[in-house]
Amino acid sequence: MSNESDSTRNFIEEFIEDDFRTGKHGGKVITRFPPEPNGYLHIGHAKSICLNFGLARKYNGRCHLRFDDTNPTKEEVEYIESIKEDVRWLGFDWGEHMYYASDYFDRLYDYAIKLIKDGRAYVCSMTSDEIREYRGTLTKPGKESPYRNRTVEENLELFERMRRGEFDEGKQVLRAKIDMSSGNINMRDPIIYRILKSDHHRTGDKWCIYPMYDFTHCLSDAIEDITHSICTLEFENNRPLYDWVLDKCGTPNHPQQIEFARLNLNYTVMSKRKLLQLVQEGRVCGWDDPRMPTISGLRRRGFTPEAIRDFCNRIGVAKRDSIVDYALLEHCLREDLNRRAPRVMAVLNPLKVIIDNYPDGLVEEFDAVNNPEDKLAGTRKVSFSKVLYIEQDDFREVPPKKYFRLSPGQEVRLKFAYYIKCSEIIKDSTGDVVEVHCTYDPATRGGWSSDGRKVKGTIHWVAENYALKAEVRLYNMLFTAENPESDENKDYRDFLNPKSLEIINNCLVEKSLMELNAGVTYQFERLGYFCPDRVDSRPDNLVFNRTVTLRDSWIKIEKTDA
Ligand code: ATP
Ligand code: MG
Repeated sequence: MSNESDSTRNFIEEFIEDDFRTGKHGGKVITRFPPEPNGYLHIGHAKSICLNFGLARKYNGRCHLRFDDTNPTKEEVEYIESIKEDVRWLGFDWGEHMYYASDYFDRLYDYAIKLIKDGRAYVCSMTSDEIREYRGTLTKPGKESPYRNRTVEENLELFERMRRGEFDEGKQVLRAKIDMSSGNINMRDPIIYRILKSDHHRTGDKWCIYPMYDFTHCLSDAIEDITHSICTLEFENNRPLYDWVLDKCGTPNHPQQIEFARLNLNYTVMSKRKLLQLVQEGRVCGWDDPRMPTISGLRRRGFTPEAIRDFCNRIGVAKRDSIVDYALLEHCLREDLNRRAPRVMAVLNPLKVIIDNYPDGLVEEFDAVNNPEDKLAGTRKVSFSKVLYIEQDDFREVPPKKYFRLSPGQEVRLKFAYYIKCSEIIKDSTGDVVEVHCTYDPATRGGWSSDGRKVKGTIHWVAENYALKAEVRLYNMLFTAENPESDENKDYRDFLNPKSLEIINNCLVEKSLMELNAGVTYQFERLGYFCPDRVDSRPDNLVFNRTVTLRDSWIKIEKTDA
């Protein structure tokens, strides 16, 4: 990953290097990636992962993986496993530093008791509606809860009874006693514990009160000795509360919260709640559907971790929200795949070609270049015979101007093989061309002629009996709108693209793909990048996903923007 280090510094790195100069945090860098295990990770999380693990790597520190598992009703073990797999696949390693916020429930409880004893927290018995009403708005100050001035003893007793399960959900909460007239609504006596009568996947039935995010997160950071707690901009207004909790709890160390702009991508949605909805409503085939912006979806689609890391580096970290063009993500992918993807020939919509003057039964083998970008990738043999298949699109009975592929009387090169010329076409009863008869020039073996005559078109092909049948899945954007969430009168699901998946059966791929490498994305010559589907593809039933087409729209976008 040496090509991924960069000599320019982003604002977070400047922050960290300032801390080195002043000796804050003793010159250490300890970051964390703190997902809530309530869904699969998406490309936005990848940005946070690359940032947090990347900083730890750059400054010889460490990065923790911490599951922020404070809501037992929405969290599942399946999500935890998927998150670990995705972070590893992206190329990062937390070593022994994997934690759960639930590991700290005892200590968090002790901190809550301390706040109560110090007169800084109280049990509030208002309903959630009342609490909301009393909270006020941005323009209206809040009102103090009638329970705000309970004595320490009363609060200790009520909190203990909450813990013992004597109250129903929603009947009591523990609130920090801060300032109901604060301009920052987060500081208006935020709830720090609530009653939830749900078993937790790790602590079982030990607790029926659970700490809230704002209380848990900062204390978990402090417990783990985190130095720089990096989060997205929407938490900027939570920072005073983050600092308040740590100050009042008197933690031995005080991590610095730093906010950066979250990643937004066009033509997709990125909230876990919405992605979950798409899964639950069957609008996609699962969290790892290749159209999903999830890490597992991108992986199944054929993306490489290198491409995703490169993308995260290029978008950088900013202080202001913006929407990144999906084309940039694809551009990074093409750059990586162009360097590395093995080339093969495949025909998605086959048209039969018969070479009339080629000997019956003869089979020749040609050397095909595996990757013109990488000499070490070598060559492979492809078989050639009298009956071949080419792409329907590579033949036109009546060629338009500048059409250099096969048409009556026009000579083309079959890649790696021979020049052929079309002599006759055969149509079915509906008038569709079903067979093209050609002659070949034996002197053009390997695809070159010594007389210097030029052919303008080179097309790919597969030989009958030397090709494997395959299903190919072509993917388009999941949404038809650049920002499916921006229309106030419509639901984002109204913008789902009905053509986001197109399935082609009876495609033919060259026989070398019999020994498929799982997890490898190939270039189908002239068509794009494709990978075997890791869920559905089997040796006797090949299924390929189109990862990305060859045409790069990003270069054009970049030019017009410049
Ligand atoms: P979502 O809004 O998709 O539900 P979240 O913020 O609730 O995401 P968490 O599991 O809490 O999801 O996120 C873990 C970490 O990933 C947090 O530090 C969060 O700031 C970061 N993160 C989440 N979404 C993005 C994004 N789009 N860009 C950058 N970082 C993100
Ligand atoms: Mg969150």
